[in-house]
Amino acid sequence: MAFDYDLFVIGAGSGGVRASRVAATHGARVGICEDYRVGGTCVIRGCVPKKLLVYGSKYAHEFEDAAAYGWTLEPPKHAWAPLRDNVNKEVDRLNAVYLRLLDGAGVKLHMGRGRLMDRHTIEVGGETITAEKILVCTGGRPEMPPIPGHAFAITSNEAFHLPDPLPKRITIVGGGYIAVEFAGIFHGLGCEVDIVIRRDRVLRGFDEECRTFVHEALKASGVRMRTETEIARIVATGGKAPFQLHTPLGGMFETDLVMYATGRVPNTAGIGLEKVGVQLDKAGAIAVDEWSRTTVENIWAVGDVTNRINLTPVALMEGHCFADTEFGNKPRKADHRDVASAVFCQPEMANVGLTEEEARRTLGELRVYASAFTPMKYTLAGRKQRTFMKLIVEAATDRVVGCHMVGDDAAELIQGLAVAVKAGATKAQFDATVGIHPTAGEEFVTMRTPRPEPTENQVAAE
Ligand code: NDP
Repeated sequence: MAFDYDLFVIGAGSGGVRASRVAATHGARVGICEDYRVGGTCVIRGCVPKKLLVYGSKYAHEFEDAAAYGWTLEPPKHAWAPLRDNVNKEVDRLNAVYLRLLDGAGVKLHMGRGRLMDRHTIEVGGETITAEKILVCTGGRPEMPPIPGHAFAITSNEAFHLPDPLPKRITIVGGGYIAVEFAGIFHGLGCEVDIVIRRDRVLRGFDEECRTFVHEALKASGVRMRTETEIARIVATGGKAPFQLHTPLGGMFETDLVMYATGRVPNTAGIGLEKVGVQLDKAGAIAVDEWSRTTVENIWAVGDVTNRINLTPVALMEGHCFADTEFGNKPRKADHRDVASAVFCQPEMANVGLTEEEARRTLGELRVYASAFTPMKYTLAGRKQRTFMKLIVEAATDRVVGCHMVGDDAAELIQGLAVAVKAGATKAQFDATVGIHPTAGEEFVTMRTPRPEPTENQVAAE
């Protein structure tokens, strides 16, 4: 049978655009569909606009510290509208770049929602398209618990388009990546921020010491941490304090805006997956094998819709491997080990490899090196913000199996160290590396004394 395309991609986010461009470069005839804007979560309402807002919000601290370096400033004022509009203009520019990239690679874009009709047929906006192979990259979307009044709350999707001026008080529910990143953004831009979490600390799943460090730093910066509680219902008052947030035990507090950052779920509904036999896993994500192939032989899936590691560079890797394997005669599996990641909260946190807790569970004896210090930049201004660094070493092999950092430029530093961890570098090789002075990064190659091993009682208490 002659198909319209060799490959049809549903969803033009990071994974979909990468896979389609690479497949086209390998000579495949490729079509792609998108029902919103090309670029996906990362470019349109995720990593890119978020990072720009982080930059914008950090000026608050820079201005405060500048006086100690001899600068005299008028009391600085911030207006939300120019920042919001400039960020959205940049998103428009990147959207256009993505469109040109697809066009330049010869990938045909079909605007509209793609729906699988059978294993080789997709319907997009009334048009019927056939393809030999199909790749699903529909990403994910924010999810909120369906409590009474949840419709009054926003998610990160809406946060990029808030009206000017920003509300005085913002309450963020959740303690994951998005919650702590937006807490830093809104706090830096002058809002009073409350974080509501059902645990004792933010960032579950990260190295325990690092998450404690971030939690305490957020608190010290003035973000109010409402721990071990939940929101049972949201009541819109129509008054000066627009929302009342009620807790399960009868508590209540007021706020001007509620933002939920309680996780994201894969976009699998309404695209005909069940109809053609593509199975989902228990979490509702598309089940795939190590080649990103679904339970249907000619259909693959990459990115957040598969809920493996939900990060843009991982979706890019998965999409690239798929295209090289299927169209480039270069079979490659995506390697999900030692993927570095960062949380752009303030202070920033980044890591690669195992947490101390994971290493204790999965490896034998460890040596753990840790250091906390005030960065040189803050000494003159007296800013009470410390940096924390940690190396986890497998004692039997001397291999560095985890690098963690909380502090300025953590993401930039850890990106470099990720190469060493991925290459299997030993602590002796870290030690043999001469530092750059004076930097924070040199600490990673000068930590010489391991921390005492925890006693059995301490381990049992954890
Ligand atoms: P996360 O999964 O990181 O965190 C969700 C948070 O919401 C957790 O604190 C969780 O608490 C809490 N939560 C979940 N359900 C409820 C509920 N019913 N009531 C109260 N609290 C709840 O989700 P995010 O939305 O922050 O981010 C989604 C994903 O996006 C991330 O996992 C990441 O993959 C990606 N991302 C990556 C970024 C980066 O690389 N810098 C930035 C932003 C997003 P608990 O711990 O108790 O379960």
